Amino acid sequence: MSILSPSSCTQCKQKILIFDNIPVLSYLMLKGKSRCCKKKISAQYPVVELIFPLLLVFSFQSNDTTEEFIFVSLFFLLMIVIIFIDWQHLIIPHVFSWSLIASGLVYNYIFSINFLNFILGAIAAAALVLITNGAYYVIKKKQGIGMGDVFLLSGIGSWLGLINSFICFFLASIYATFYIVASGQISNVYAKIAFGSFLCLAGMTVMIIQQNVFLKNFFY
Ligand SMILES: [Zn+2]
Repeated sequence: MSILSPSSCTQCKQKILIFDNIPVLSYLMLKGKSRCCKKKISAQYPVVELIFPLLLVFSFQSNDTTEEFIFVSLFFLLMIVIIFIDWQHLIIPHVFSWSLIASGLVYNYIFSINFLNFILGAIAAAALVLITNGAYYVIKKKQGIGMGDVFLLSGIGSWLGLINSFICFFLASIYATFYIVASGQISNVYAKIAFGSFLCLAGMTVMIIQQNVFLKNFFY
């Protein structure tokens, strides 16, 4: 929603007071229900309000310059937003994936020594999803992956580069498989899952490994 209009209750549309809109704390004080009409507030809000600041702290301590910190924080912000939108609505608004592609290319143009790797990453990642989708279509005669995921993985490729975007694709598939098994949907071959959310989780995993010196030395 617009950042210019004040927050309002999703049920009765009443304006939310400033002290009822404090991250995490208000959720706990209101015991998870809105003050106006006692509607249950989704646990998603305090979870996001808790995870994002942790990622900001991580980004702050692992980047040397303010510019890098801002860019990497933007990456995490877009990942979090896409995770929750795709999870709830099974769509990835283009404005977010295109912002991801653009910011990734600008970031790597400024900070990377091998910019070509990230242009190729953006293109090859999109191609990888399209080829996978095409193969699925030939076998099953229906679309398997949404077009939103094409642009999303392209964005992840523009941030993380050629090889890493492929790693993200397979890591996301592993995450999604675990989820399908754990949620008991393994027998339902037509179950729809928010694959974009898993792509973002994978993207965040690879970014965290890249940014953390200890993890980076361990994995690379
Ligand atoms: Zn209300």
